[in-house]
Amino acid sequence: MFLLDPLPFSYDALEPYIDAETMHLHHDKHHQTYVDKLNELVPQGGDLEKLIFSDNQKIKNMAGGVYNHNLFWKFLDPKNEKLKLDQKTIDEFTAKSLALFGSGWIWLTDKFEVLTTPNQDTPLITPPLSPNPLPLTPILCLDLCEHAYYLKYQNRKKDYVEAFWKLILSPNL
Ligand code: MN
Repeated sequence: MFLLDPLPFSYDALEPYIDAETMHLHHDKHHQTYVDKLNELVPQGGDLEKLIFSDNQKIKNMAGGVYNHNLFWKFLDPKNEKLKLDQKTIDEFTAKSLALFGSGWIWLTDKFEVLTTPNQDTPLITPPLSPNPLPLTPILCLDLCEHAYYLKYQNRKKDYVEAFWKLILSPNL
């Protein structure tokens, strides 16, 4: 059985950039739903890192939803050491975030590649996006589904992306 991991920080730890209400909705409802649906589809349980490669699109989507959000919370943890990124990488990540149409994720890999994945795909399962051979190791990701920002930012995706950078880059939040 798959379980929802608790957030590695408190719900209000990302205030004022990401508000506690959004974190409750995002983690307790949306992330929980991916876990619940994955349990319905794969009641025997299994290895999440294998299920994100499933040929069954529904399983792939739900496993990706669980996996991606686990990473997102890990990367957002304010206890992390701040990343040192050059402005070009930040600008590319921001531009790809603002250019994404519909739901998806933006990723930064350990090779400093910036990748976009649709829906709940992970960069691990979209090798054509990358010139490098697998496996890719994400060191940062940003959820650009509306549920990630709509309560606080409504349609102001740019403000959400700017707030994200404040969280990731500012020392001692
Ligand atoms: Mn999400």
